[in-house]
Amino acid sequence: MHLKDKVALVTGAAQGIGQAFVEALLEKGCKVALVDLNADVGKASKDAFDKQYDPQRTLFIPCDVSNEEKLKDAFKNTIQHFGNLDILINNAGVNDEKNWENTVQINLISVIRGTYIGLEYMKIENGGNGGAIINTASLAGLWPVAYQPVYSASKHGVIGFTRSVAMAATAKNYGVRINTICPGFVNTPILQTAFKEEKMGLYYSFKEEIKDKMQFYGILEPSLIAEGLIKLLEDDSLNGEVMKITKQGINFHEYCPLP
Ligand code: NAD
Repeated sequence: MHLKDKVALVTGAAQGIGQAFVEALLEKGCKVALVDLNADVGKASKDAFDKQYDPQRTLFIPCDVSNEEKLKDAFKNTIQHFGNLDILINNAGVNDEKNWENTVQINLISVIRGTYIGLEYMKIENGGNGGAIINTASLAGLWPVAYQPVYSASKHGVIGFTRSVAMAATAKNYGVRINTICPGFVNTPILQTAFKEEKMGLYYSFKEEIKDKMQFYGILEPSLIAEGLIKLLEDDSLNGEVMKITKQGINFHEYCPLP
């Protein structure tokens, strides 16, 4: 896909990995709707982008992705404002083992819902132009994590859903490619939640092990994850792929062929 002038909607765009995604998309000439729960940080982020890029190319939409009506409105506003939708990045996520239902709701249910709403607008059979959807998972979606069982389950769910719906997209000629991106530890505010009792609950006592793991695996910069995103968007041959990003670089996870 040539990215110039394409319209993208990014959830969890106010900070961290989502913000790096927005920057990379703007660099490529896209127009971007920044969707995030945190209105203060979201507006500050748009203001910062406005100093570097034409303010007409970004739109901040305050929205809790776990609110179905608000999420639908975010898509409607994006399309009303920019005219269409080519790229959807379901990236908003939390680490909350204490209120774990929240983690399933935001990391998995809202990603599924976002994908379905996006497909309604993008599918060729509905008169859309096709496009690409990227769902942010994690390495915790490929392997078990002793201190984050629900986060890990939510991300396994994102990978299973995305690979499956990507097969449906091919079988039914949606014209939409759907892939996941799985980073290791990334230098964003979510990392600090691993050391907070109110987020880790039962698993707070693992804090020293978590520190050791971060040291062992290393902490990546959000710009590297954005590099992976651009690869997934620009290469039209990629569908149903699981991109892993670690200090070893950007690689694809290999699965055994389907039985
Ligand atoms: P972050 O906490 O810095 O950013 C997450 C953003 O999502 C925030 O701006 C937050 O306001 C927003 N958000 C949270 N709940 C929301 C909701 N209900 N509705 C709308 N927006 C909401 O974290 P990040 O590291 O940038 O995380 C982005 C994604 O990457 C998440 O899905 C996370 O699970 C995943 N991830 C992060 C890491 C890491 O180490 N940082 C590693 C692998 C995967």
